[in-house]
Amino acid sequence: MSRDQRVRDNHGLLLAAELGTQVHVAFCLLDRCGAASQRHFDFMLDGLEEVERDLRSLGIPFTLLLGDAAMTLPAFADSIGAGAVTCDFSPLAPSRRRREFLADSLEVPLVEVDSRNIVPAWVAADKHVYAAFHLRNRHAKMLPDYLMEIPQVQGQNGVSEPVDWESARAFVKAEQHGPPLEIASGESAARGALDDFIANRLEGYAERRGRPDVDQQSRLSAYLHFGQLSCQRTVLDVNSSGAPAEDIAEFVDEAVTWRELSDNFCLYVDGYSSARGFPNWGRETLDAHAGDARDVVYDLDAFEQADTHDILWNAAQLEMVRTGRMHNYLRMYWAKKILEWSESPEEATRIAVHLNDRYELDGRDPNGYAGVAWSIGGVHDRPWMERSVYGKVRYMNENGARRKFDVDAYIRRVAPELLDQQLF
Ligand code: FAD
Repeated sequence: MSRDQRVRDNHGLLLAAELGTQVHVAFCLLDRCGAASQRHFDFMLDGLEEVERDLRSLGIPFTLLLGDAAMTLPAFADSIGAGAVTCDFSPLAPSRRRREFLADSLEVPLVEVDSRNIVPAWVAADKHVYAAFHLRNRHAKMLPDYLMEIPQVQGQNGVSEPVDWESARAFVKAEQHGPPLEIASGESAARGALDDFIANRLEGYAERRGRPDVDQQSRLSAYLHFGQLSCQRTVLDVNSSGAPAEDIAEFVDEAVTWRELSDNFCLYVDGYSSARGFPNWGRETLDAHAGDARDVVYDLDAFEQADTHDILWNAAQLEMVRTGRMHNYLRMYWAKKILEWSESPEEATRIAVHLNDRYELDGRDPNGYAGVAWSIGGVHDRPWMERSVYGKVRYMNENGARRKFDVDAYIRRVAPELLDQQLF
């Protein structure tokens, strides 16, 4: 188990149960992971404690291995006499390298299961899909075969030593960035969050999702990122909720089309987290404007400290640092302004990916790499009117934000002190 950290609605676990009589789940814990902060590890470990409890009640042993799967898993699989290993799918490069190494070093077959996408990424397309509507069209044909009720894994007779969670937490060496978060973690909390969304925010979602002052998004991304919630389950529940059709359609478009497009992007595009991943037209137009004078240039530290001249940008940055979450509209605005106020698109991409991965609870996710690449490099977008610095990449500004929502109400909600400072 790596990316899909749940017991219910888990196709990897189901396949393992079909392949043998006794499943044994192992999770390999890294002591640090890219830009992940302590609060990411806290959230993940809280969720894994629940996984262990739930598996134990089903008679399925759970073992936490300390260290990279490439180093720890082959010997472990040997020690329990495993007949096969199933692993979660991830399109991200470090996971793919690890999986290839495991496939070579395990004595038994390794089977990869995509339990994150409703249509497995390699079935949906065998190359990069350039625009959302292409994936939407493919899905229209394929989804009926995949979007069906998910069976649940049955009880077994295994036993295992309880995990020493204290030692596991002491093993983690991640840095502290941002305050601890108060978001409940784990599969039950994730199901609760889905129920809360359906009961309280799904109606009107299509109309109000884009308004940061109202904040009517689903707030499910962290649960989806850590695999505590199956996207297939969210779509099944949303589809049967009785909510207005346009709200259901809007949610499904975000959670299925845009989300699965991000996995497709990372799976098939080298350099997905850098400017190398931009489409040709995006690279060419940004190159053509590389020498344009910038009104202002900030470095990583100024961005990280929310120390820019733009109060809306600073509020969005503070929302992310304080709550581990930034509204979708502002994520676009935030990344585009980093492009506008950095020395180069390459540097802007580095800064945006770094801050996104460090502070967003749902960071280090294909959605994040695709989101930054969309905002800065035009990935999955089209050319717009040409202007300074951006070239033909879509532009956003504060006036546009003010037309769309009540900017001051948003700032008052997430960082009221910025409005007070502005008075002086
Ligand atoms: P909702 O708006 O309610 O959407 C439901 C689900 O659909 C989300 O949970 C998410 O899984 C998916 N989704 C929504 N919008 C997108 C999108 N544009 N692309 C792909 N999937 C989407 N999402 C992350 O999960 N992790 C990130 O690190 C991340 N970083 C981003 C950075 C930038 C610069 C941009 C522009 C977008 C980023 N997104 C990221 C995508 C999106 O902003 C978040 O998924 C969304 O805001 C999360 O809030 P929610 O769960 O309430 O989503």
